Amino acid sequence: MTSKDVTEADIQSNIPLVGRKPDQISTTVNVGDVELSEGKFVVIAGPCTIEGREMMLETGTSVKEAGASMIRGGAFKPLTFPYRNDKMFQLEEEGLKYLAESKQKTGLPVVTEILDVRDIELVAQYTDMMQVGARNMQNFPLLEELGKSGIPVLLKRHFGCGLRDWLGAAEYILYHGNPNVVLCERGITVPHTHQLTSRFIVDLEAVLAAKEWTHLPVIVDPSHATFKRAYVAPVARAALAIGADGIILDVHPVPEQAAVDPLQALGFEDFDNLMKQLRNIASVMEIEM
Ligand code: PEP
Ligand code: MN
Repeated sequence: MTSKDVTEADIQSNIPLVGRKPDQISTTVNVGDVELSEGKFVVIAGPCTIEGREMMLETGTSVKEAGASMIRGGAFKPLTFPYRNDKMFQLEEEGLKYLAESKQKTGLPVVTEILDVRDIELVAQYTDMMQVGARNMQNFPLLEELGKSGIPVLLKRHFGCGLRDWLGAAEYILYHGNPNVVLCERGITVPHTHQLTSRFIVDLEAVLAAKEWTHLPVIVDPSHATFKRAYVAPVARAALAIGADGIILDVHPVPEQAAVDPLQALGFEDFDNLMKQLRNIASVMEIEM
């Protein structure tokens, strides 16, 4: 037994709130009027980075027309290196306003990343759900404050952490009073097996393990997990087929020109086609979408 494995003893003493008890039914997390739950498949879509008002509104409207149930958009962006050039910008509160405007226009709830514990109050004014990015998965002060806030949290798995650490991070949020946590698998760093340029490998089996050991909804991010446009739709279909409760996807009006992550974003037409395929698969599986 290695330390990355969750055990019955962990459920007793380390993750009593997050761990699934025998016969415990899965939790539903409500975000606005969207339900993340077993038996449903929620699609969250939008730009990786909010680049401006027009592109945010256009993308929100387009993903809603294609059938998305929530909108994403980043106003605070984590960067691997500290140099923000004119592409690697973040619009901060201005971007949050555009996100809120796209919510108003479409009626869809929105999710955005929170990077810093000092911004919780500001970000909470504009969003329905806070995304904790992979890099902040074990930012314990942030998890504690999000726990106290009660706002729904999308907790991404760090690309170097196993299930046990991921569930430990979720336990912090529940322990501090917030039961509204959705887990998100977004790819892990392992030696590449098929492609020199691949940054991450999507771990779909982790969806099964997370759903086995916890009662929380689990979604997948095929965009950040594959980092490659041509792989996004197939992995999105696989996520649905394997039993994930939803996906979060980068969609951009001109994907090749996206300020951040231009290699992975889907254009409107590709997204619309994918949504049609997902609805077909969901109907065969008798999953509500
Ligand atoms: C994102 O969703 O914009 C993001 C930065 O994802 P991750 O934290 O998974 O890298
Ligand atoms: Mn991104």
